[in-house]
Formats: sequence, C-alpha cells, structure tokens
Amino acid sequence: LGTSISDALARMSKATVVDEKVLGECLKEITRALLQSDVRFETVRDVQANIKKIVSLDTLAAGTNKRRIIQQAVFSELCRMLDPGKPAFVPKKGKPSVVMFVGLQGSGKTTTCAKYAQYYQGKGFKPSLVCADTFRAGAFDQLKQNATKARVPFYGSYMESDPAKIAVEGLERFRKENSDLIIIDTSGRHKQEAALFEEMRQVAEATKPDLVIFVMDGSIGQAAFGQAQAFKQSASVGAVIVTKMDGHANGGGALSAVAATKSPVIFIGTGEHLGDFDVFDVRPFVSRLLGMGDLPGLIDKLQDIIPADQQQDLLEKLSTFTLRLLYEQFQNLLKMGSLGQVFSMLPGFSSELMPKGSEKDGQAKIKRYMTIMDSMTDAELDSPNPKKLMTESRTIRIARGSGRQVRDVMDMLDEYKRLAKVMGKMKNIKIPTGKMSDKN
Ligand code: GDP
Ligand code: MG
Repeated sequence: LGTSISDALARMSKATVVDEKVLGECLKEITRALLQSDVRFETVRDVQANIKKIVSLDTLAAGTNKRRIIQQAVFSELCRMLDPGKPAFVPKKGKPSVVMFVGLQGSGKTTTCAKYAQYYQGKGFKPSLVCADTFRAGAFDQLKQNATKARVPFYGSYMESDPAKIAVEGLERFRKENSDLIIIDTSGRHKQEAALFEEMRQVAEATKPDLVIFVMDGSIGQAAFGQAQAFKQSASVGAVIVTKMDGHANGGGALSAVAATKSPVIFIGTGEHLGDFDVFDVRPFVSRLLGMGDLPGLIDKLQDIIPADQQQDLLEKLSTFTLRLLYEQFQNLLKMGSLGQVFSMLPGFSSELMPKGSEKDGQAKIKRYMTIMDSMTDAELDSPNPKKLMTESRTIRIARGSGRQVRDVMDMLDEYKRLAKVMGKMKNIKIPTGKMSDKN
C-alpha cells in the first residue's frame, strides 16, 4: 500500500506541470491502493473527496505549490484514517485491569506482552503475565523467559490444556497479589481456524478483559483486515499493536486493522528486545508508510527555516546529544521559536512531552527539568554520556541544589536518554541538495 501511494506521489513529482489530469491520475492510484488494501469503500471515497477539496481550494491562491499541497493532503488524510475517533482503554495505576492479547501465531504476541508489561512497570505499575497458550509446545517457557527478563511475575501450566481455565487461575492468583495490570497471552494457532476464534471467545468470556489488543505483524499488508475482523468478532478488540517495524515493513496493514476494529494503534514494536517498543505516534508512522523516512516533515521544515549552509551542521550537532543541547531545545520549545518547531516534530517528543490537550502539564514538566539542569556542572551538561557520569552523590547534589527529589533527577535523565536515542538516528539523515521546485 505504502509503496503504491508513494509511487503515485513520486510520479506526480516528476511531472513538469501538475494539472487536473495529473491530479486525477494520482488520486486514482491512491484510491486503487487503498481499495486493494481492503480499506472500506466509504473511507476511500471520503479520502478522495477531502483531498480534492483541499487541493482545489488551495490552488485558487496564486503561487502555491500544488505538489506539496497534494502530498500534505494525502498525509493528513492517512493520519485521519489512523484515528478511529475514540481513544483506547488506558490502565490506571492501583486499579486492577485485565488486558488480553490476540493475534496469529508469529505476529509477536508473547514478545509484545512482555514489552507491554515492562513499559507499564516503568510507569510504576505492578504488572503480571499469564500464559493461556496451551497449543504451542514451549509457549509457557517462552513467556517465562520474557517475564523473567522483565522481572514480572508470571503464571502458566505445563499440564492444563484448557486456556480459559489457566487464564482464570492466573487472574485469581494475581488479583490476590494486588497486581494492577494482568496481561493474558493467548495462542495464535489451532488445527482449525474456527477453533482458535472459539477459544478466544471463551478466554475473553472467562476473564472479561478491560482491553483486548490485536497484535499484527507490520508486514502483513492486505491480510490485516480479515485477521483483525475475525479477532474482533470473537473478542472485542479495543486497540492494535503493530510489530516488526524495525524491518522493511511499512505498516500499511495498520490502516486496515484500524478500519476493521475501529480501534487505534497504541504501540509499535521495533525489535526483538523488550525495550524495542514505542508509543504510537501517527506522523512518523504515516511518513514511513509513504516512504518519506523516519522523521516526518523534519527536512521540509529545516529547509524552510534554517539557512541551507547550516542544515547539515545542525543535524550533526543534534546527533551528539548532550544535556546542554536538551536544555537549549527546551528553551526553544517553550518559546516555540523556529528550532522549537523543528524539535516538536521529532518522533516521541511532542507526543510524549507535550501531548495535545495537556500542553500546560508538558510545559510545567519541561520547566522542572530545566530547574534540575540549572544545578548541574558544565562537565555534566556537556558529557556525551551523562548517565554514566551520574554517581549517586552527584544525583543527590543535583536534587538538593534544585530543591527536587532524587527521583525527579532520574526522571529527567530517563527523558534525556529516550530523546538521545531518537537524536542518534539523525546522523543518518542526508539533506537532499536543491529544494523541490516550488513552481507548478
Ligand atoms: P507469537 O507467536 O505471536 O507469540 O509471536 P512471538 O512473540 O513468539 O514472536 C515471533 C517472532 O517475532 C520472535 O522471533 C520474536 O522475537 C519476533 N518479534 C516480535 N516482535 C518483534 C519486533 O518488533 N521486531 C522484530 N524484529 N522481531 C520481533
Ligand atoms: Mg506466543
């Protein structure tokens, strides 16, 4: 899907003149790609109508770049398709929740269960894992191994063959132990498909999960719709996780899974390790889907506001990401200056630090982080690896100096580490020389 849409856009970019005919052909190809991916006809028709509306309105203005407007219209329409309009259930600390994972064998369920557990553990939850996959030999061992790595308690059985029964036993055990997030892993294969869906229905009925998560391999494409729909019919799926986004997959199937389940994507899996797990961020996801690279619109934005001779320098500077640079970026972000705009587009930055609707909280957090950094020495601020430098006595000194808790200092360093990882990827970006022509 991603390839054919980006092909259509690329062909349009090559055309010397973008007129009604070129636009029409481009739209036709996009429509075909969406329909082939089993996106519902109504959705496709909406997308087409919206793009047409945006483009024809804007092209009335003289001197606008039609190419860019069409690209942006496609971009924002795909973003809209990935937003089913209602948020997924979010577990609350201290309030017992049950989350059940479903998906075909090999989609990454068992791995993702453990990633999900570890993610919430990091947020202060007390998660637990239950293995209700009695079909595959070794399923319990695999879960056990992952759970041990994540240091999360687990439950399962080598003897019992009834998955619903194990799931209920696990629930009872972990409810007693005051787990506030009980995660149930299930089987993804059966001798007969109908039996698998019947099994999912039984496990869901027995455990009454607060959330059922459909896990899909990011490379399955078209098949996502049928799979997601079948699981939705047996257990009421309320969220989607797309795995294996570290490979070549563009994740186009997610559009179908969202359409089939009317549920949002909440996380993506980006590798085999438990930490390879990101909160879903729609803009970088769509830009990848369209073959536009990991960092959405960043280059465009850079080209618009940073003088050409400084662009590559800036990327390199940001890629050796020190606490001082983070401090400067926080200042920029608060001012929403030009660099702040660029920075706010980075994956994981705006969505986590400044979520829409809670910009005030985000700003308070940034100010808190900055106060902490004000108590740091130059050596700490300029270190390429501050985590390593940070001994207990340094951490305590900084906490005292800034009037915060040691925990707050650790929090800030975690945030730094997360962003440093994103910044590390910037080294690989090459800014194309010569801007895309701004003429039609
Ligand atoms: P399940 O059958 O649905 O439980 O899937 P598993 O959790 O056993 O995963 C199947 C394979 O996919 C394993 O080899 C995992 O290590 C691998 N896997 C899972 N998630 C990811 C991911 O995000 N990226 C990569 N590269 N591999 C993954
Ligand atoms: Mg499994």
